[in-house]
Amino acid sequence: MHKEPKGVKLVGISKIYKDPKSGKDFAAVDNITLDIKPGSFVTLLGPSGCGKTTSLRMIAGFESPDKGEIYIGNEAVNAYAPNQRDTAMVFQSYALLPHYNVFDNVAYGLKIRKIPKAEIREQVMAMLDMVELSGLEERMTNQLSGGQQQRVALARALVMQPGVLLFDEPLSNLDAKLRVTMRTEIRKIQSRLGLTAIYVTHDQAEAMSLSDEIILMEKGRIAQIGSPNEIYYKPNSVFVADFIGEANFLDAEIAAGNNGKAAVLYNDVPLEIASTEGLVPGNKCKLVIRPESVKLQDSGKLACKVLVSTFMGAYQYYQVETGGSVIIICDYNPKTRKVYKAGDNAFLAFDSASLHVI
Ligand code: ADP
Ligand code: MG
Repeated sequence: MHKEPKGVKLVGISKIYKDPKSGKDFAAVDNITLDIKPGSFVTLLGPSGCGKTTSLRMIAGFESPDKGEIYIGNEAVNAYAPNQRDTAMVFQSYALLPHYNVFDNVAYGLKIRKIPKAEIREQVMAMLDMVELSGLEERMTNQLSGGQQQRVALARALVMQPGVLLFDEPLSNLDAKLRVTMRTEIRKIQSRLGLTAIYVTHDQAEAMSLSDEIILMEKGRIAQIGSPNEIYYKPNSVFVADFIGEANFLDAEIAAGNNGKAAVLYNDVPLEIASTEGLVPGNKCKLVIRPESVKLQDSGKLACKVLVSTFMGAYQYYQVETGGSVIIICDYNPKTRKVYKAGDNAFLAFDSASLHVI
């Protein structure tokens, strides 16, 4: 029953709004260029106010860009109304029709398309089955739980067989457990149907678990685009490293070549890194290191003092001080590890591959 998914291209897209406080114009979306592959699951991630919803609404056609061109499939769609764009949107607020039952909510868009009744019935029932709402066709939407309402909203979007499915924080009104269940289901359905999905969220865990590609936004611009793995291990800025997971930052300096091995200097201690490609010796840099990539041991190059040591079950949580910087460590499976106490002296250990330079 499914059509081909479509790619989405944004070329130099900007949206200017007036700031209600200052009365001045500002770019809510600032010259964004993007290329989303057909059939992929992409999230727009970033803090509140960075322009995610505005970007999504421009793709859907609810807002028009002040600059740039949007393509869906190979068609330039700037001049198209939302219902001419082959997109469907799932909203945070669900936006269900309150005086309609479940069946009629899902059938609504197909009726407008004047599809024959029997066909509508078949497609609606198939979608309700997909979102596990079979048997609830006659229920009014105000007699459903939040999770069920969100499933109706999902079925209503899916039944239109859109070339691109758009989501704006669809799970933020659900409790934490249901959010995890629903996001897994959304991803399953998307893969099964081979849909292109663009998903807006401010929740990094949601973005990590769902995405083929994350587009991380900051103040209307793209901070970084990459797979969850790339964004986590190779952040291109302090903002990105900080937004995704926990990160430690050490101020260091790129070292001159050392036996062909790449290194940085942290408080004059040479630390081996995977590569200095593109880095200029003598330049200042920041080292990014994730808390789970650092270990404590009894000997080594980088001395530290343990400030905080807390048993968290899955890991021992440390704050340690080294060369004037405080570093956070999550040492997993502490039962099998030496545990240091606050006040202990120790040394830091990490793999060169875990040090990322920005
Ligand atoms: P996000 O979805 O990432 O939280 P939005 O795209 O909703 O961010 O908003 C981006 C910025 O544009 C924010 O500063 C917001 O206040 C502003 N904004 C959004 N919609 C309008 C509007 N209709 N008029 C004026 N400012 C707006
Ligand atoms: Mg938003």
